[in-house]
Amino acid sequence: MTTQLHTPAADVMGIALVAHDSCKPDMVAWAREHQAILGQHRLYATGTTGGLVADETGLPVVRFRSGPLGGDQQVGARIAEGDIDLLIFFWDALTAQPHEPDVRALLRLAVLANVPVACNRATADLVITSPLLAAPDREHVDTRLAGRHTS
Ligand code: PGA
Repeated sequence: MTTQLHTPAADVMGIALVAHDSCKPDMVAWAREHQAILGQHRLYATGTTGGLVADETGLPVVRFRSGPLGGDQQVGARIAEGDIDLLIFFWDALTAQPHEPDVRALLRLAVLANVPVACNRATADLVITSPLLAAPDREHVDTRLAGRHTS
């Protein structure tokens, strides 16, 4: 089913997609479900996640390195630069990750930048269909986050 809510084309956001291995099927299914909305925005993703989403949806995705090889850090850097407005991060709550420090750093930067983070499909559904997406200028960004665009 394709979501009917519409995000105005003028409000193009940067959306980052990251999914740990056990969560990749969920991410692909979610991206297909919301393909029409995602297609209105700039998509970024860690390497493997981005490849799967691009293959399944045909949407253009800027792919960083694989998460464990620096991709999470690259997503975090783009958050610090103000390029990413929404993080969809399906992390595996049952398995320890070798790049746990990178995961934590990514989540920390997202919180600091007041970037909405969805860590499971239910939250991602709510966020991507929220009318607040049409009002991308969020306040309460920590101004110590150098480079973050606040306007
Ligand atoms: P991947 O990285 O999309 O390259 O698998 C995700 C992650 O483990 O952070």
